[in-house]
Amino acid sequence: MSGAPAICDPGERRETPLLAKIRRHIRTYGPMPVASYFKLCLWDKDHGYYATRAPLGQAGDFTTAPEISQIFGELTGLWAAAVWRTMGAPPSVSLVEYGPGRGTLLRDALRALRLVPEFLAAANVVLVEASPALAAEQRRTLAGAPCPVSWTDSVLDFAAPAIVIANEFLDAWPVTQWEMTEDGWKRRAVGLSSEGNLVFTRTDGLPRPGRTNGLRQELQPGTIVEERDLRLPVQAFAAAAAGGPFAALVIDYGYTGASRGSTLEAVRRHGHEHPLASPGEADLSAHVDFTALAAALRSHGLAVDGPAVQAEFLGALGAVERAGRLMSANPARAGEIEAGAARLLAPSGMGTRFKCLGVRSPGLPPLPGLPPQCENG
Ligand code: SAH
Repeated sequence: MSGAPAICDPGERRETPLLAKIRRHIRTYGPMPVASYFKLCLWDKDHGYYATRAPLGQAGDFTTAPEISQIFGELTGLWAAAVWRTMGAPPSVSLVEYGPGRGTLLRDALRALRLVPEFLAAANVVLVEASPALAAEQRRTLAGAPCPVSWTDSVLDFAAPAIVIANEFLDAWPVTQWEMTEDGWKRRAVGLSSEGNLVFTRTDGLPRPGRTNGLRQELQPGTIVEERDLRLPVQAFAAAAAGGPFAALVIDYGYTGASRGSTLEAVRRHGHEHPLASPGEADLSAHVDFTALAAALRSHGLAVDGPAVQAEFLGALGAVERAGRLMSANPARAGEIEAGAARLLAPSGMGTRFKCLGVRSPGLPPLPGLPPQCENG
């Protein structure tokens, strides 16, 4: 999401229905690991953030790139058609979107793809969405789509030839956190203070982090390391690539290189707040560790390109030229179009905060707009 970070006073805690449930759980079973708290906040079936609401857009809590400018969906759609050509233009291809939000990216992509009717004739669109509220919104957005459209809630549910797009999807996958203490690594958890408030705490006797991603061996007490269990999407990509030509584009806020400590963040009403302040009523996410993701993908035999920062990727696909053409064609909306494109490309904002990683079956050439990685062998 793109709101300006302004962490609220952690004292501004809200009594949410999910908080009552989490309190009961902690009183019965003890502190819950950060990953369990993360998952409950988003997916508790009665009070989870995504499970119960459609949170995107001006009236919601956060805004994403496709909601800011139509250019984002148009360029990623045309990118998919270019990738399909490098696959040899197979007569049938799945265009899969993981976590499609309101369906805006696909709506804009499919409109731009009218320029490539042979791609539309081959494409079937698969939306991977676990939120019933958002799936309903996507059905409305994509009514009248120019190719077959279907829904599933499983990231595994598609076959090659396929092209997957995942914008701001992986940041919503829970992370586990470890903290270095005088007594070694402890798993970070959410517990209760004596007043019954949620607090971060540590639990004993649990496994160490699998890797510390570039951190030195002698870590200072207080250092936090995050790990995300991405086995499912990585296996989904590997299984698809085993069956035919496969490519994916993963775009998210995140980092490469050494671990960044805790990147857990909560956003509500377009502002950042403390991750423990409003369980179930704020979007909870953590940055994507692109170095770990690329390593996991490579270890499953996939090739990766990039990551490039978003400004570089969209620039290579012709974002500035596309904005210029749209402005000439719609003079009354020129200011809005320019502002939207500028926001996506801003060097001190989304343009560099977001990274774009390409994933492909090793037989395919490097993906358009992304620098090939030398480790691909
Ligand atoms: N890509 C969209 C929306 C981003 S919000 C955009 O850029 O506007 C995250 C999206 O991922 C939501 O649609 C959410 O419901 C979905 N999502 C998050 N975790 C998921 C999971 N594990 N399985 C399926 N969908 C998930």
